[in-house]
Amino acid sequence: MRFGIIADIHANLEALTAVLDTLKRQEVDQIFCVGDIVGYNANPAECIELLKENGVISISGNHDRFTSGEIDAIIRKETRDVINFTRNALSTEQMDYIASLPEERYFEDIFLFVHGSPRHKDEYINSLQIARSNLQLLQRERPFVSVCFYGHTHLPYIISPNRIETDIHRSTSFELDPKFTYLINPGGVGQPRDQCPLASCAIFDVDRYVVHYFRVEYDIETTQGKIREAGIDHKIADRLSKGR
Ligand code: ZN
Repeated sequence: MRFGIIADIHANLEALTAVLDTLKRQEVDQIFCVGDIVGYNANPAECIELLKENGVISISGNHDRFTSGEIDAIIRKETRDVINFTRNALSTEQMDYIASLPEERYFEDIFLFVHGSPRHKDEYINSLQIARSNLQLLQRERPFVSVCFYGHTHLPYIISPNRIETDIHRSTSFELDPKFTYLINPGGVGQPRDQCPLASCAIFDVDRYVVHYFRVEYDIETTQGKIREAGIDHKIADRLSKGR
């Protein structure tokens, strides 16, 4: 069994298409998405349809929840403007799809999928301390979980009690030790933030206990053109070529 993991698509159709092509060429059995299908970029409707066509199993991210109106948090104006753009771009069925996504999911009881962290759906795992306390929380409260896949930071990471893998800027593989609990971020599909503009995704090989990362080229200029044409803040287009 090999499953693909994607995160933070953020309505980037060109990046999502490139990543799904890569995962299909690798003949994965199933693809999971850990949230943030929409927000930032210009093709939310097309991305939702592509996920449905490919039978991707998803959970919600904060941008998906902003869009379906479940959260009234104070957020930046440019983010609010994109949410309004996204709401206008989606059909009723697509809005229903976004609203129906659960906040977390299990697969085979030992794999957990969350957007932010196991502790909270909106928490950023952006420090060693936060990573450690989440690993401890998993071991204490959900000891049956072997790997928790997360997103939200848009940074590819492998974290276990005795190991950290980061700066994953090219396609590469890591053997894991089944004795340990892991937090794994596949990196961002539609808005990578690790100074590498390539779209990111991962495959988990359950039998070999190996995680394969893929950094995938896509047509960034087309994505940027669509963002500018849609009247979305140009900074959101500019950052894509810098990977931040
Ligand atoms: Zn995101």
